[in-house]
Amino acid sequence: MPLLESDFYGFQKLLTPRQQESVHAVREFMEREVRPIADDYWERAECPVHLFRPFAEIGTMGAGWKETSTLESSAVHRGWIGMELARVDSSFCTFIGVSSGLAMTSIALGGSDQQRAQWLPQLADGSMIGAFGLTEPLAGSDTARGMRTTATRKGDTWVLNGAKRWIGNATFADVVVIWAKDTADDRVKGFIVRQGTPGFSATKIERKQSLRIVQNADITLENVEVAETDRLQKIDSFRDLAKVLRITRDGVAWQALGTMIGAYEAALKYVGQREQFGRPIASFQLVQDKMATAIANITASFGLCVRVSQMGDEGTQRDEHAAMAKSFVTTRMRETVALCREVVGGNGITLDYGVARFFADAEAVYTFEGTKDMNQLIVARSVTGHSAFV
Ligand code: FAD
Repeated sequence: MPLLESDFYGFQKLLTPRQQESVHAVREFMEREVRPIADDYWERAECPVHLFRPFAEIGTMGAGWKETSTLESSAVHRGWIGMELARVDSSFCTFIGVSSGLAMTSIALGGSDQQRAQWLPQLADGSMIGAFGLTEPLAGSDTARGMRTTATRKGDTWVLNGAKRWIGNATFADVVVIWAKDTADDRVKGFIVRQGTPGFSATKIERKQSLRIVQNADITLENVEVAETDRLQKIDSFRDLAKVLRITRDGVAWQALGTMIGAYEAALKYVGQREQFGRPIASFQLVQDKMATAIANITASFGLCVRVSQMGDEGTQRDEHAAMAKSFVTTRMRETVALCREVVGGNGITLDYGVARFFADAEAVYTFEGTKDMNQLIVARSVTGHSAFV
């Protein structure tokens, strides 16, 4: 597989030849199927749901789990795939990641062997799309304490009541993992809710100005009945849920890396072509400084993403490690997309020059899966020994 020019230190060599082949297939898919339509879908705020199954056919969606692995994978390999998606379109990366990351990881870590066998293959081969419902209208950063959605057990059935906000894919997903507090013991539990269950409704959030392709929804749950067999059997606390978030935060760091690479590649092309004062603007020292900062941000972020994923595979990764990767890389992303937009001048604010979409999308990536502030507090709690959370 050809090295990306933005892979300045050649991190790609850490992937095995077979992993590079699968990444290459993803890269080709994104160039062929997604790049030509991304701006149009983004402008119309529509999601190319029809591409879910063809993407699944590449065979990378279940790469992490024994029930669905078709090739020898690693956390670096899976992170790299997310980066390749975001490098072309960060929305498409989110659309896929909500299902193959958040929903599948919840079932893989929280489900019994039977639940894993029932759901993971269908989510991996694209016959089902998943969603993940944690955030609520009144509980974002403090979902651990502030979650209001309740689950009440009645025999072999649970009754869910409450509301969720921002839930990606929820309007069309076949299954939504819903997090709720057990009214008996106030502990967090996870439930697999099928689309169409009476009392479940999802309404698209309109007028978003970031990740416009992703269909986020407000969900209401009114006496939604879920069988005990659809409760995630290995989840019994917020700590269990936090294990899912640790893995997916690692993935969002890779997504942020891909988002800044997408903006950088478009800006690099532009500064080589655009002339002012009789010379390409790439020859001006102030423009060069911005491009040097951008590639340094990308390279430092690559290093952090690779190492935090390796720690995941080694079994040494802790919450604060993933939190640092998410916080650091999204911050570098925000700086990088702004520099890239700046060197494209006025053209940098239209969709036509390849930077504006990444610039706008970076804001949502900076915010979801724990804002920068929340992730900084997790890191600082670890290094200072003092928790700023009340
Ligand atoms: P708030 O928690 O209200 O925070 C507002 C501000 O206050 C932030 O700057 C925050 O850092 C700051 N703040 C809060 N508490 C503190 C504190 N103690 N100290 C310092 N600062 C603080 N959720 C899902 O469950 N599923 C999804 O699929 C999903 N997809 C999403 C997709 C998009 C595009 C977006 C924008 C969000 C998505 N989310 C999803 C929700 C996302 O995880 C939340 O938006 C995020 O956790 C922040 O919560 P909030 O928006 O309620 O902000």
